[in-house]
Amino acid sequence: MNCLLCGSNFQSPPTWRSLILYELAAYACSRCWSKFEKAETEIDFLNFKGTRYEGAVDSVTSLYSYNEAMKSYLHQYKFLQDVALSHIFAEELRHVFEKREGIVVPIPMHPEKLVLRTFAQVDELLNSAGIPFQHILAKTATSEQGKKSKKERLEANPLFEVIGKVEELNYILFDDIYTTGATIHHAAKVLKETGARRVDAITLIKG
Ligand SMILES: [Zn+2]
Repeated sequence: MNCLLCGSNFQSPPTWRSLILYELAAYACSRCWSKFEKAETEIDFLNFKGTRYEGAVDSVTSLYSYNEAMKSYLHQYKFLQDVALSHIFAEELRHVFEKREGIVVPIPMHPEKLVLRTFAQVDELLNSAGIPFQHILAKTATSEQGKKSKKERLEANPLFEVIGKVEELNYILFDDIYTTGATIHHAAKVLKETGARRVDAITLIKG
């Protein structure tokens, strides 16, 4: 079969390999696969201590680091809109979500951005992994976060509003990348304010 990343033809692994390895290898060749850098770690977010976001997030786990291979993966997936690439990390995601208990809530895109990008990339990663999720958050404004300083971002108006029912349960936010943490903290805060018991976050990448 052909590697979704480089297009080269590769052999499926021999049968003695585990099912997980088989499924991982089924979408990308081992050479491409080896370029990703695994970083399944909990992120510390001490920079939110003392801000009004303190306590909003209970934990953040990221699976991979943002290296060159991941940069080009994201570019191909998000900007060149190669929806098939949502399968690459499906098995990994399934594995990490299996260990958690809670309602999965993907970070939503602004509707205008969704039109530009044609598909919701964050949702599609979950769909490919067969992970059920609920859309209970909506984006309130187009984020121009890049133009603002960290302080301005933190003090900005809420980025999200709740559009579904939040119960006294555990929630797991999911996003493609964790960079400053502002997105996750904003989302967690509105969930906590509307009754969520616990809010953990999982991201594919640590930026
Ligand atoms: Zn390849």
